[in-house]
Amino acid sequence: MQTLPVPTQPASSQTSVDTMIHRRQTRPVQVGTITIGGGHPVVVQSMINEDTMDIEGATAAVRRLHEIGCEIVRVTVPSVGHATAVGKIKQKLAETYQPVPLVADVHHNGMKIALEVAKYVDKVRINPGLYVFEKPKSDRTEYTPTEFAEIGDKIRQTLEPLVVSLRDQGKAMRIGVNHGSLAERMLFTYGDTPEGMVESALEFIKICESLDFQNIVISLKASRVPVMVAANRLMVKRMDELGMNYPLHLGVTEAGDGEYGRIKSTAGIGTLLAAGIGDTIRVSLTEAPEKEIPVCYSILQALGLRKTMVEYVACPSCGRTLFNLEEVLHKVREATKHLTGLDIAVMGCIVNGPGEMADADYGYVGKQPGFISLYRGRDEIKKVPENQGVEELINLIKADGRWVDP
Ligand code: SF4
Repeated sequence: MQTLPVPTQPASSQTSVDTMIHRRQTRPVQVGTITIGGGHPVVVQSMINEDTMDIEGATAAVRRLHEIGCEIVRVTVPSVGHATAVGKIKQKLAETYQPVPLVADVHHNGMKIALEVAKYVDKVRINPGLYVFEKPKSDRTEYTPTEFAEIGDKIRQTLEPLVVSLRDQGKAMRIGVNHGSLAERMLFTYGDTPEGMVESALEFIKICESLDFQNIVISLKASRVPVMVAANRLMVKRMDELGMNYPLHLGVTEAGDGEYGRIKSTAGIGTLLAAGIGDTIRVSLTEAPEKEIPVCYSILQALGLRKTMVEYVACPSCGRTLFNLEEVLHKVREATKHLTGLDIAVMGCIVNGPGEMADADYGYVGKQPGFISLYRGRDEIKKVPENQGVEELINLIKADGRWVDP
């Protein structure tokens, strides 16, 4: 069990309340140069929306995402032609930039496509609901156990060559179940439920295991947060019962855009991460994929799971506030946002400010009209005129040897 401290809630010697996130122990799954699970930091991923056949455009899009911190990039592969194009994208990245861990998304009836693309990418994502086509029968009222088993056999035959290829190349697979595209026989048997999602994933996992392949990551996504949370919790419970420890990829599908899309993603992903569940995340926004990466990092930083930026603590301001807090916070942020690893507090007054700075490394606190006090931890270091506050804060950080130029 890996434990990571949550810096915003320091463990106190006076309380027995546990402020650590205890991450579920999972097996490490290698995806190119990145490891998912096994106690490694939660991995950030996204997906380009360029057409994969547009080699130039897709290569540039993968690079753009990777440069801003997307550690694994997914591309969609709807045909064998697209699969071949991925090989060219991979080659172009290596020649003009650097190798980037790539995942191919294969959907409908994707056996041939998956086999071709498995030569070029580090991980193949398949959707169990769509991987093998089940012809719907309009008069069907149930699936008999025999019919269920027959389709299971067909899935096994179809999946086996891909599993063997990935296994022999040391590559990975994501079994990516979507609530909205469960196979018809799962719907008949388990309903449109988290149980159906989990059983769908387990059926594919068991085929992989029977072929001695365990480089597997599982996802159970839904556009409704409670469904996605319940499905992942149930998956963990079932895996524990079965002695499985596959890492989980978290995401809320069709979260939309803007503020609500971000809140919805955070509600689903954050709830599970706080319970120690999840090894890699993707925030799906109806916006440019570049917009997804900062949201991923903010979720991880807020939970203390990764520290990729300065942690700012600021009071909401009130009648006691002695300066324009919004403006000062903005100035402090602009001057210090490159100092990854520091916690900086901006508090409106000395009445409650110093006590509520949550053990920040540095504090900027309203002292009296026209003056602010600078703190190092809980110690007041000096009082300075407000108009020199930001400059003096920088000087203090420099004097402590913790400044780096932007
Ligand atoms: S720290 Fe002071 S100014 Fe800020 S909200 Fe609290 S009492 Fe008000």
